[in-house]
Amino acid sequence: MVGGYAGKILRVNLTEQTISTEDINLKWAEDFIGGRGYGERLLFDEIDPRIDPLSEENKLIIATGPLGSTTAPSSGRVMVITKGALNGTMACSNSGGHFAGELKRAGYDMIVIEGKAEKPVYLWIYKGQVQIRDASKLWGKNTKETDKLLKRFTHPEASTLQIGPAAEKLSLISNITFDGRRMAGRTGIGAVMGSKNLKGVAVKGHLSIRVADKERFAKAVYQARDILSKDAFSGKGGAKYGTAVLVNVINKAGGLPTRNAHDAYFDNAASISGERLTKDHLIKAEACDSCSIACGRVTQITSGKYANNKGVGPEYETIWAFGAACGVDDLDAIVMANYLCNEYGLDTISAGATVACAMDLFEAGYIPKSDIGFDLRFGDADAMVEAVKLMCEQNTDFGRLLAKGSYRLAEHYGHLEFSMSVKKQEFPAYDPRAIKGIGLEYATSNRGACHVRGYTIGAEVLGGLDKSSYEGKAKLTKKLQDLTAALDSSGICLFTTFGLKAKEIAELFAAATGFDCDKDEFVKKGERIWNLERIFNIKAGFSADDDRLPERMEKEPIKSGPSKGEVANVSEMLSEYYSLRGWDKNGIPTDKKLKELGLEGLL
Ligand code: SF4
Repeated sequence: MVGGYAGKILRVNLTEQTISTEDINLKWAEDFIGGRGYGERLLFDEIDPRIDPLSEENKLIIATGPLGSTTAPSSGRVMVITKGALNGTMACSNSGGHFAGELKRAGYDMIVIEGKAEKPVYLWIYKGQVQIRDASKLWGKNTKETDKLLKRFTHPEASTLQIGPAAEKLSLISNITFDGRRMAGRTGIGAVMGSKNLKGVAVKGHLSIRVADKERFAKAVYQARDILSKDAFSGKGGAKYGTAVLVNVINKAGGLPTRNAHDAYFDNAASISGERLTKDHLIKAEACDSCSIACGRVTQITSGKYANNKGVGPEYETIWAFGAACGVDDLDAIVMANYLCNEYGLDTISAGATVACAMDLFEAGYIPKSDIGFDLRFGDADAMVEAVKLMCEQNTDFGRLLAKGSYRLAEHYGHLEFSMSVKKQEFPAYDPRAIKGIGLEYATSNRGACHVRGYTIGAEVLGGLDKSSYEGKAKLTKKLQDLTAALDSSGICLFTTFGLKAKEIAELFAAATGFDCDKDEFVKKGERIWNLERIFNIKAGFSADDDRLPERMEKEPIKSGPSKGEVANVSEMLSEYYSLRGWDKNGIPTDKKLKELGLEGLL
């Protein structure tokens, strides 16, 4: 008998105010695992890829994987699948916390949200009862307040998800927050939820999740935890410094995009490092369900103009976005910008990169001061925080423009080349000129520029591969993209891959579900998911022309540091990548590949 799944899908139609449940499709569960894969298969079947993401026709799927709510390590991941508001791609974002566990224990593997409520509502799910409730008292509240109120209105031990004011106002870079402290970001998924007038969901579980083979699963869990305990990051480093430990590491490698990627080396990186964050701001580390890594940060600002503010984060990417990308070396200001984005519900990578783009446009003379209201120059920490406030509040024309992300901002001022984005999504904290494989990953990532779809940094910077060589990077990128798609779908955290290989993760999946699956079959499922995403995007209008880095990466050499003089040339790797994927020269999956993956007839 199949284990690991709760077995039911909850479907809520906000237009009709109807609630129904259905059994999970076991064939899809076996082929697409769960979470990201299953949710995307379902979305693929149920929406037209050409719809407006903010229309009533779009659906929002909150999904868990078969390892969620088990004792598998770091298995508290929850995924949100939709057509993304920022760029119209097949979007899947992922968050940790406790929501996945509560949802599965409430009896559901996923929630499919359809339509649009007439007025703001929230959902309350408990002991087989699902209610659509009035959220007028929550609308306008920030994410922290909303979490508190949702727990007060439902159950103090409920887990919640919510949007902040940014998503209510349909910011294209808004995210969805879990329990007021963990975020599923990128691609503007918050705006999709806002467009449905859905402010939040609260859920409390009361059941337990059964695995198929208890003994085999316990052995697989023991082995996985043992491996993770011996790895430098997942064993100790994660809790001590969090992801911010990467600031110094990536800067020393000459790969920290600086001042909107005019450079890739930040002289003042030590002032904004993870070591500095731990010393000056950290209160404690925090973990998601079933995780011993505990990379989460609970922090405070103790002095200066932002003193007495407390919150969670920042992560490495956030420190980079408000720090090096904006030329800012004031860690208090970076932490404050992070808190503002958390409370309003904005994606910090896109928010920081958009401010960096605005600084660049301002310094080049393309944005007049009268549009902003103040000088917005690289390195000015106060101006950076003020720009973030404008973006959060969206009460000026310029603030509303910032809240659409860097692509629309640069387009508005007639200089798209200033947006460091792929498929309209800002790229994260690794410079593709210095680290070649991550450039291919950004260019080909199905949801737009992204580092967590195939984290080549582990091999290129932390491992032994030559980061400045193109050789072998197409193969590495494909391998990691497929493995990550499968891993995400299983419900465990990407950070487990610092220690675990496909073999151990496949064993956890097989033991939990009872599906016959070795490491090759597990990765094949990931490849199937990757191709499904690609097919959706092709149907939505994307093509090989969208698998490109911003012009600056190809034409402007890095100015200083260890990677001085480097540029990125993705085309050097792209044709090999297409060929390894079994796609034609236009990046379209061949009939042979579709048949091999059981996806025939979908393109
Ligand atoms: S490693 Fe960090 S993000 Fe991943 S599950 Fe653990 S605490 Fe959560």
